[in-house]
Amino acid sequence: MRIVALLAAIALGAVVAVLVLTRPHHPPGRSIDVPILMYHRVGRLPAVPTPTSTKLTVQPSVFAAQMEWLARHRFHAISPQQLYDALERRKPLPSRPVLITFDDGYRDVLYNAAPVLRRLGMPAAAFIITDRVDGPDISFLNWRELRSLEQDGFTIGSHTVHHLRLPSISPAQARLEVSQSRGTLERHLGRPVPWFAYPDGATDPAVVQLVHQAGYLLAFTTQRGSTQYAREPFLLHRYEIPRSDGLAGFVALLHSAQ
Ligand SMILES: [Zn+2]
Repeated sequence: MRIVALLAAIALGAVVAVLVLTRPHHPPGRSIDVPILMYHRVGRLPAVPTPTSTKLTVQPSVFAAQMEWLARHRFHAISPQQLYDALERRKPLPSRPVLITFDDGYRDVLYNAAPVLRRLGMPAAAFIITDRVDGPDISFLNWRELRSLEQDGFTIGSHTVHHLRLPSISPAQARLEVSQSRGTLERHLGRPVPWFAYPDGATDPAVVQLVHQAGYLLAFTTQRGSTQYAREPFLLHRYEIPRSDGLAGFVALLHSAQ
C-alpha cells in the first residue's frame, strides 16, 4: 500500500510540475497601449559629429513636423503622472495617447523642442543626468533652465547621477546612482521626482528591485513596443526616434504602434 501511495504521490507531483512548467512565465495581465517616444537632442549637429551624436540629434524642423503630425492626427500627449494613474488606478486616458520623452538633459531640448510643444499644448518628460547639470559641458541644461523646462510643461525625471549601465556596477553603487539623483532633483525642484529612465535602457531584475526600493513609481526602458503592463511599471517600453527616421519613418512607426 505504501508503494502505491508513493507512486501516486510521484505521479501527482509530475502532473503539478507539468502544469507549472506549461504556464506562461509572465502572464501578461492588464495592459494599456501607449506609444512612448524617446528623443535625445533636437538641434544642429555638433561641430565634430560622431555616429552616436548624429543618430541621436533630430533636426528642429523635423521634430516640429513630427509633433504637428501628432496634433493633426488627434494624438494626445500625456504626462508620466497620467500614465501612472491609468496603469495603477485605471483612470481613463484621452484617445490616442502618446508620451514624449527626452533622455540625458540636453540644453537644445529647452530651446528647440519646448517651444514647439508649448505651442501645440503637449506635455513631455525629460530624464536628467544630475552630475551634468551646471557642469562644464554647456550642451547640458543648468538648474535655472531645468526649472524653465518645467514651466514649459515638462515633467522632470531621473536618469541617474553619472549615466552608468546599472547592471554592470556594484549593487551599492547602483543604489547610490538611483537614489542620489532623485534626492538632488527633489532638492532643486522642490517636488517629488518618482520617474526614472535606465541609462542605455540597461536593466535586470536586481536593478528593477533597486529602483522600486528607491521609491520610484515608473521606470522607462528602451525595449521597443507600445503595450505597457500594469504589473511591470518598472519595465515600460519606448521607441527611440533616431535622426534617420525623418517624418516618414515617424509616421510609419506611429501607424504600426496603433
Ligand atoms: Zn541616456
